[in-house]
Amino acid sequence: MMQQPEPAPAQSKPGTELVRIINCRQAYHKESATDLVVLDGVNLSIRSGEIVGLLGRSGSGKSTLLRIIAGLLPPTAGEVIWKGKRLEGPAAGISMVFQSFALFPWLTVQKNVELGLEAQGVPVAERHRLAEDAIGLIGLGGYENAYPKELSGGMRQRVGLARALVVHPDLLLMDEPFSALDVLTAENLRTDLVELWAEKKLPIQSILLVTHNIEEAVLMCDRILIFSSNPGRVAYELQVPFEHPRNREDAAFRQFVDRIYALMTRRAPVVSEADMTDPDMKHVQITADAVALPALPINTIVGMMETLAADPLHGRADLPLLASRLQLELDDLFPLGESLQLLGFAELEDGDIMLTPEGMRFVQSEHDTRKNILWHSMLHNIPMVRTIRAVLDERPNHRASAERFRDELEDSMSPDYARQTLQTLIGWARYAELFDFDEEADQLFLDDETE
Ligand code: ADP
Ligand code: MG
Repeated sequence: MMQQPEPAPAQSKPGTELVRIINCRQAYHKESATDLVVLDGVNLSIRSGEIVGLLGRSGSGKSTLLRIIAGLLPPTAGEVIWKGKRLEGPAAGISMVFQSFALFPWLTVQKNVELGLEAQGVPVAERHRLAEDAIGLIGLGGYENAYPKELSGGMRQRVGLARALVVHPDLLLMDEPFSALDVLTAENLRTDLVELWAEKKLPIQSILLVTHNIEEAVLMCDRILIFSSNPGRVAYELQVPFEHPRNREDAAFRQFVDRIYALMTRRAPVVSEADMTDPDMKHVQITADAVALPALPINTIVGMMETLAADPLHGRADLPLLASRLQLELDDLFPLGESLQLLGFAELEDGDIMLTPEGMRFVQSEHDTRKNILWHSMLHNIPMVRTIRAVLDERPNHRASAERFRDELEDSMSPDYARQTLQTLIGWARYAELFDFDEEADQLFLDDETE
């Protein structure tokens, strides 16, 4: 069938720079200690005609950066240049789609979509027409008078998209727009969006897509910026060499995904050899290099190790393969892999994960020996655990407030992460009988078992 030529939206020349971020830094002020630096030395630019992916882990500052680009948050330092001028607040040519849809429940689809236009003072008739176009474009024709609660998650996010598109922005910012949707719905929406983009039917010039899903980035983007954490900055930049539509099963596609896994797991060992032989070791303070730990029960870690050790993997697996086999996303898989690495039970290399001899020994042991191995591993590898244990050993009553350790962790992570990290350590320490936690008193302690 012949395609009707679409009226081309007013395009700037492909490749024109729309936005440039220069040396942006964002620090959140904290009462108790040094400020939390979320972004530091962020430099990037986005040109018309491209979909750029910003790929990074939870907490790496992606949403913060999007809010800066949207003009909602002035950076602590550095600047945002929007079409050649310094950005001083929300710009007309930039709109945003949120993970949580952010629709008004008391407004119809039509009214939700018209909102952006109202703010711009567009006359009523024009508003109707533009909103209807956007709603039709995004595949919701016929649902103009429905309310959000009558729609599925996927349809709600289509409304979110229509609302962002209706103002014909130059730059569309998308903050993990598919992550609240089920797998199938998310894939449909991705495919539709890429198709509309490839057919040049979207009234926009470029997209900045924030995601923590590697395959999604490779499926949709022309260029991928890999964001590092603590502080967030652009660590790697990759041009994606595939035409649309792309096939996840292609060997070249898989290889590209593999390469990103490898880049994202490339990182220095957490504890140096020198650190471990330091005679003053119990005074080593955990500071800038403290690792935020996810809420990761020890059973999950043990389960992963058992899967890795068993047939057919025998101790080594390709991360993307393991991720799809266990249905894990980056935000689950990487922390799991890194926790194993932190404990000295596995190593990450070239996009593979391998159990170490110590990890193998753990898996092959009975419960009591496992406890013992974890006990040594935690003391040996995690400075914060050494600090806690040293403090508890020194105290006559073998008790100490948990608050003080959270405070220490907060020197290098947000309060939420500090809380979660300590909680995770407590869970592991209980398994290893290294120390225990009295929730009511908010105190860590040693008892007969742990002493
Ligand atoms: P991402 O979107 O990559 O998950 P965010 O930008 O949401 O990351 O957050 C980055 C870090 O900044 C986190 O540690 C978060 O707790 C912290 N943070 C975000 N917003 C604020 C705020 N308003 N005040 C203090 N800390 C914040
Ligand atoms: Mg975010």
